[in-house]
Amino acid sequence: MFSTMQDVPLTVTRILNHGMRLHGSSHLTTWRGGGEPQRRSFAEVGCRAFQLANALRDELGVQGADRVATLMWNNAEHVEAYFAIPAMGAVLHTLNLRLPAEQLAWIVNHAADRVIIVDGSLIPLLAPLLPHLKTVEHVVVSGPGDRSPLEGAHARVHDYEELIADCPTTFDWPEIDERQAAAMCYTSGTTGDPKGVVYSHRSIYLHSMQVNMTQSMGLTDQDTTLIVVPQFHVNAWGLPHALFMTGVNMLMPDRFLQPAPLAEMIEAERPTHAAAVPTIWQGLLAELTAKPRDVSSLTQVTIGGSACPPALMEAFDKLGMRVCHAWGMTETSPLGTVSRPPAEVVGTEREFAYRLTQGRFPASVEARLTGPGGERLPWDGESAGELEVRGPWIAGAYYNGPDREPLRPADKFSEDGWLKTGDVGTISADGFLTLTDRAKDVIKSGGEWISSVELENALMSHPDVAEAAVVAVPDDKWGERPLATVVLKDGSTADFETLRTFLAAEGKIAKWQLPERWTVIESVPKTSVGKFDKKVLRRRYADGDLDVTRL
Ligand code: AMP
Repeated sequence: MFSTMQDVPLTVTRILNHGMRLHGSSHLTTWRGGGEPQRRSFAEVGCRAFQLANALRDELGVQGADRVATLMWNNAEHVEAYFAIPAMGAVLHTLNLRLPAEQLAWIVNHAADRVIIVDGSLIPLLAPLLPHLKTVEHVVVSGPGDRSPLEGAHARVHDYEELIADCPTTFDWPEIDERQAAAMCYTSGTTGDPKGVVYSHRSIYLHSMQVNMTQSMGLTDQDTTLIVVPQFHVNAWGLPHALFMTGVNMLMPDRFLQPAPLAEMIEAERPTHAAAVPTIWQGLLAELTAKPRDVSSLTQVTIGGSACPPALMEAFDKLGMRVCHAWGMTETSPLGTVSRPPAEVVGTEREFAYRLTQGRFPASVEARLTGPGGERLPWDGESAGELEVRGPWIAGAYYNGPDREPLRPADKFSEDGWLKTGDVGTISADGFLTLTDRAKDVIKSGGEWISSVELENALMSHPDVAEAAVVAVPDDKWGERPLATVVLKDGSTADFETLRTFLAAEGKIAKWQLPERWTVIESVPKTSVGKFDKKVLRRRYADGDLDVTRL
């Protein structure tokens, strides 16, 4: 027996129509660095998305599931593309502007993008690539920037504003099957070729609803979110879709992602909530310590993408910015867990420990832990294994071209279709995830695992340490041992012996886990999405590039 309920497709078009009509007066502000910020109401953003769709279809011939790529910072035009492209039935492909040129070219060719919308400021990045992008027929330039480097390329060049200027603000949106592709994003590909994750209308819609739930971000139209996490990184954690749905105002930093302009825009625009990876917040913290500002509006900060160091959470708490830790990946749209402590621990000593976990799974994300031998592990807060997940916004395969079966590599998907996350951790009886490592970063010393994240967090809680990354290095006796690479704060005098004693104090780290190899580095190398790039450190160690002290 089937239900008597209506079967209405869950599409990005619904979010667009709803946001522009029912939250038409909410605002999207784009920081312009120095000049007056650009402000558009959701109604205007929506109308311009309608115009863009008309232009893409009528002027550039976009049809069916054509891929339209964006090479853009976080700004209003990028949000317009977020809605126009999927709503017209095409596929939005966000390009990670921090990837090496060859990888970007590979990705554009693999996705067979027909159009690229590019910020004028990023023309110097696109121009040398363009001759290699055979499928790209049109380049649409948004905002100021010297266009001459694009001249002579095979693709036709258009100006975004000119292109949409005379287009109607209505569009007869097509009927869309909710399982159809809406957007795609390639994983950063630290090993092997990048892998394409294709989000459906349905997955984006359901994910947006989850983001908006009280136990996730829980925002309303009285809030303003500063979206620092790039729009090319997992749809800016799904925030533009989710916030359009509920009328939460958006503040977009465009290319002004350095600590000083971020602090300035928080003081000037008074967002109540912000989202970014820990490295951004570390930078902001140093900036605010050096030059205090009124950031009192910002009372909620979502941190994810890498583990939130406890010292950072504490420091932000002191500034009145309450950190909420979250875990996710490109393959999980990304919302996987959010660390909202259960009611019974709020106000007790245990609350902070709960907040530091990666968080609790929502109803739609099922999780299980798999041990090294493939056995299922209990949720006891102690048994560590690889996390596997499944749910309506979790990838079940990777894109493999339009006419080929999607890829389901055995190291990424279990036989019964669960996503193998490559993250190692424990789950408590009440469903809170604590990650101890990436499977590939775990240090295997004499048959026991040492968590590099635990060592890093302990090191970063020392007042003289700005950043620390710990990697496994080969060891004759133990197989692998930890190498501590440390970035010291300016003027610090701490030596390795002091740091090691600090780690051992109060049983922070078990004695056998203490690193004996130490080195000071200028900064921790970062990946294209701002995470610690440990493979660079491992390579520098193997090449003998690091000046290592043995204690
Ligand atoms: P990406 O697909 O580039 O977003 O990377 C996803 C990976 O980032 C995850 O598999 C984790 O290894 C890591 N990650 C994301 N959020 C967290 C977090 N809160 N704590 C620790 N690692 C995280």
